[in-house]
Amino acid sequence: MAKIDPERYGVNTLAVRAGRQPTGEGEHSEPLFLTSSYVFKDAAQAAARFAEEEPGNIYSRFTNSTVRIFEERLAAMEKAERCIATSSGMGAILSTCLGLLKAGDHIVSSLSVFGSTVNLFNKVLSKFDIATSYVSLSDYSAWEAAIIPRTRLLYLETPSNPLTEIADIQRLSGIARRHGCLLVVDNCFCTPALQQPFLLGADVVIHSATKYLDGQGRCIGGAVLGSDELLGENVYPVLKYGGPSMSPFNAWVFLKGLETLGLRMQSHSRNAAQIAEWLRGRPGIEKVYYPGLADHPQHDLAQRQQKDFGGIVSFVVNGEKETAWRLIDNTELFSITANLGDSKSTITHPATTTHNRLTDEEKARSGIEPGLVRLSIGHEDVADLRDDLQAALTKARQ
Ligand SMILES: *Cc1c(COP(=O)(O)O)cnc(C)c1O
Repeated sequence: MAKIDPERYGVNTLAVRAGRQPTGEGEHSEPLFLTSSYVFKDAAQAAARFAEEEPGNIYSRFTNSTVRIFEERLAAMEKAERCIATSSGMGAILSTCLGLLKAGDHIVSSLSVFGSTVNLFNKVLSKFDIATSYVSLSDYSAWEAAIIPRTRLLYLETPSNPLTEIADIQRLSGIARRHGCLLVVDNCFCTPALQQPFLLGADVVIHSATKYLDGQGRCIGGAVLGSDELLGENVYPVLKYGGPSMSPFNAWVFLKGLETLGLRMQSHSRNAAQIAEWLRGRPGIEKVYYPGLADHPQHDLAQRQQKDFGGIVSFVVNGEKETAWRLIDNTELFSITANLGDSKSTITHPATTTHNRLTDEEKARSGIEPGLVRLSIGHEDVADLRDDLQAALTKARQ
């Protein structure tokens, strides 16, 4: 079988076909190589592999045949030269920072990034004299103003969690270029099925494969994508010598996940759009956040930048934390978990879970109100999800 040319095919074809390397056994599905090391035909070959004179596998901490299929497939889908699979999404972010930064460097990050990312920047990287400044995601003059001569990375997620704010990746890429910084985009919420940040000027794309790439809540994993040069010289040594590697078993699960990614993202988006429309105008609902709603402040940008609007819907119930908690506790179908990107719809209260580290003042400033509830919409029947939310809302307001 000929190797798949990523330039020639669409993202759904690549999701199913890219990276396949048949072994000679005639297998159709991708093989799972559960092996920690690889054997050499003789001592000379071992020497050549170790000297990096001959390409080939040595040890699964840094090359494994199944992990490589996942890397090639995701790279093709993201339009990247290179992908490095990691043990988790946080492993991907840590590897990127350790690879691209040194003591004295500075990060400008969106305020609205994943909680562990903020903790990594503030509690871990700070020990190595790497400082981070935070700016509001779509305040472009604030990004520019926060850049200092030591700034090396601009870091963001779009849409933001949980308020689904959208940043213009192309515009931020222009700012990064002007100041000699690298633009890092965590593409977890959209996946390459909905958004391809490299086509908009990103330098590095991060994934938590744990979320939509798996899509069925089974495995932890992550990935860093970028140019051969940037990743090969800087990030690969972190993986090779630091060891935050993806397990071959997880890579195999993620490969199966990628095959249905396009379909699943369509289903998440379609169901979430219907839930968002329905929530808007419900008695007891004060605000609904979803980029697909025509009155979302960056609806036009989302439409230009994304193929669809994704599976995350947030809303504010009239009343305080108690009403939000009662609503959450009275749902029957929704799983109460802060995880997202699963077949199963999930419900969470950001102010007391994902955003509990913020002070009350910071919560107020960033829109994490006491009545805010976040949904990650799965693949159940929308009518059932609606009925469940309606019953829970009625009980919460009694
Ligand atoms: C979950 C998540 C991460 C971290 O990924 P893990 O696989 O849990 O380590 C990073 N970024 C975003 C946007 C996430 O949702």
